[in-house]
Amino acid sequence: TASSSPTILPSGRTITCRIRPLSRSEISVQGYNKCIRQESCQTITWTGHPESRFTFDIVADENVSQERLFKAAGVPMVDNCMGGYNSCMFAYGQTGSGKTHTMLGDIEESTQRHSVNSGMTPRVFEYLFSTIQKEKIVRKDEKIRFNCKCSFLEIYNEQILDLLDPSSSNLQIREDNKKGVYVENLKEIEVTSARDVIQQLIQGAANRKVAATNMNRASSRSHSVFTCIIESKWESQGVTHHRFARLNLVDLAGSERQKSSGAEGERLKEATNINKSLSTLGLVIMNLVSISNGKSLHVPYRDSKLTFLLQDSLGGNSKTIIIANISPSSCCSLETLSTLKFAQRAK
Ligand code: ADP
Ligand code: MG
Repeated sequence: TASSSPTILPSGRTITCRIRPLSRSEISVQGYNKCIRQESCQTITWTGHPESRFTFDIVADENVSQERLFKAAGVPMVDNCMGGYNSCMFAYGQTGSGKTHTMLGDIEESTQRHSVNSGMTPRVFEYLFSTIQKEKIVRKDEKIRFNCKCSFLEIYNEQILDLLDPSSSNLQIREDNKKGVYVENLKEIEVTSARDVIQQLIQGAANRKVAATNMNRASSRSHSVFTCIIESKWESQGVTHHRFARLNLVDLAGSERQKSSGAEGERLKEATNINKSLSTLGLVIMNLVSISNGKSLHVPYRDSKLTFLLQDSLGGNSKTIIIANISPSSCCSLETLSTLKFAQRAK
């Protein structure tokens, strides 16, 4: 494979394709047969019929470590938030393609420093809090203060569940001139270190498992959204300044086509909702791309809970990072092609 060297991109949107290693079960079924060939650190060929070539900001093969991916995709996201702009990172891909590995990886509460396998989220917060510490020293004269609050929710079947307060159910999205778009009654927890965040992540992930079991469904059929609101205040020439930024980390539902044929009742509704929310996300991003190219278009944010919730973090000065996760195995050829096409449309 070609060696990839991710670069930091200043643009508002970064599309990354991440290829995970072949799994043991894929090797046992298809051997080492692959459906993709990496051409360069930005180009990948799907080797089915007809061969198709895709170019992204970053193509990260299995040799690209979590740390390298973080430097390329995570650091600019945090820097953007420190500048007062919202950011959003999405992991897209079929179930088993590596979304959760990318977003969370191994999260170990007991270890202070992250392990080589810890994913983007713990690294984002370690970097965020170390940047905050530095700012506090550098901008001591301005008496800069920070306040970070996090929340963690799941969207399943177009219903919002608070992962930090599992007794809640069906929370509603509200819009307010001052607050923007927010979820009513969502628990927000103040955090002052990466350790605090990891504790919430572990708690939320455990609640997510329980919720899925109680409802007799796989957690791969829901989206999880971890949000941190970063507020800063400082004084300059006798005036107090205020800044807010939202940082969102999203582990999307599996993108495999949900079969609705034969499904009835809840299952049918579920399949329809998963397909709809992912296609709405695709459409919203596609329309934002066209708008940034000068077209005037309606952006259907309100067509799904996910896009409505993230409305303030997708367009304008926000930074969007999409990580399209794929399996290289020919077992997954068609799903891989569909993920590559999704990512291509978001460019
Ligand atoms: P998803 O969340 O998309 O369903 P997972 O993140 O759970 O997929 O990944 C499926 C399996 O593949 C897990 O066992 C995970 O550890 C492994 N895996 C995924 N991506 C990588 C990678 N880049 N390197 C090593 N193992 C990976
Ligand atoms: Mg997962």
